[in-house]
Amino acid sequence: MKIETIAIHAGNVPDEVTGAVIQPIVMSTTFERNAEGGYNSGYIYSRSSNPNRTSLENVLTRLEGGADAAAFSSGNAAGMAVFQSLKPGTHVILPDDMYHGLRNQVKNLFADILEFDFIEINDLDVLKQHIKPNTGLIWIETPSNPLLKITDIKKVISIAKQHNIKVVCDNTFATPVFQQPLLLGADLVMHSSTKYFGGHSDLMGGVLITAEKTDWWAKIRQVQEMGGAIPSPMDCYYLVRSIKTLPYRMDGHAKNAQLLAEYLEKHPKVERVLYPGLPSHPQYDIIKQQMNGFGGMLSILIKGGEEESKRVINSLTLFTQATSLGGVESLIEHRASIEGPDTKTPRTLLRVSVGLEHIDDLIADMEKALG
Ligand SMILES: *Cc1c(COP(=O)(O)O)cnc(C)c1O
Repeated sequence: MKIETIAIHAGNVPDEVTGAVIQPIVMSTTFERNAEGGYNSGYIYSRSSNPNRTSLENVLTRLEGGADAAAFSSGNAAGMAVFQSLKPGTHVILPDDMYHGLRNQVKNLFADILEFDFIEINDLDVLKQHIKPNTGLIWIETPSNPLLKITDIKKVISIAKQHNIKVVCDNTFATPVFQQPLLLGADLVMHSSTKYFGGHSDLMGGVLITAEKTDWWAKIRQVQEMGGAIPSPMDCYYLVRSIKTLPYRMDGHAKNAQLLAEYLEKHPKVERVLYPGLPSHPQYDIIKQQMNGFGGMLSILIKGGEEESKRVINSLTLFTQATSLGGVESLIEHRASIEGPDTKTPRTLLRVSVGLEHIDDLIADMEKALG
């Protein structure tokens, strides 16, 4: 089945009792036992599992071509479950350009529990040099946030496999519509479903999808169930609903982003545009091999310094100045100021989440703001 069909059907269970075409939201926290004390439906208590969460996990599994999925209350909770599942003392390698909220989580919450190195992971020699006997996990994020750097997924996996190291890929920017890391050999895929899966900037969520049901995956399931950072039935319902249009939304985001990137690249006030769909991207060859679309995220470096870049933001009307991404409305953000003092993000960088407004209106707004 193609992804458009999976997105619509794999998460939906018509209701046997009422005939409702769309699965009802099951708010009940608890489920009745039968006379023998067992559970006919398999559901016991909603922290362990819930019908709406099961439907969400089913469609996620199918979208990424995995064996199982686990849904969490945020992307960070999903990431946390991965790090909590590791044996204390495990060495983890992460990219130097990655989602700052997860970098801060690892640095602050796991400093005494795990060993870690943040490295230029796209230099494979640097990666090899950092592998140690206790390295258990390589974390990748591609395209990365906010520099849109690309990691060669297959090459990193082949190095990891030689050393028996697991690979997790944060696939939030690409979504399974444009990139399926499990099919390239990754062990786990992680998403912030707050972003494109939700797609309307109105719910928080995170997910993990596994290639195989291993003992490690069982441990992650334990963190989900016993740790309890689970999404509500309402949020699961909304995600299942939003995912139905994911492939079409992603096509629209990518089309708009491509045209905006091409326009901005020619603009005299723009120093550089970072977008995977531009042949000027330094890793365009890898991009074409592992992605079948380029996504809706781009970053621009404005000429004239930080003040000028902030002036541009404040002159826009259709691009809302706000953090986050993946919604139908366009957002823009001066990234260095949210990442805090230790950020390496350039002070003139603006990160753009290109929405689904008409591209002519978006370009006209940019034209006016750039001046
Ligand atoms: C937003 C984001 C996260 C964290 O997800 P939350 O839902 O905000 O907890 C992780 N990775 C990437 C790439 C993100 O954009």
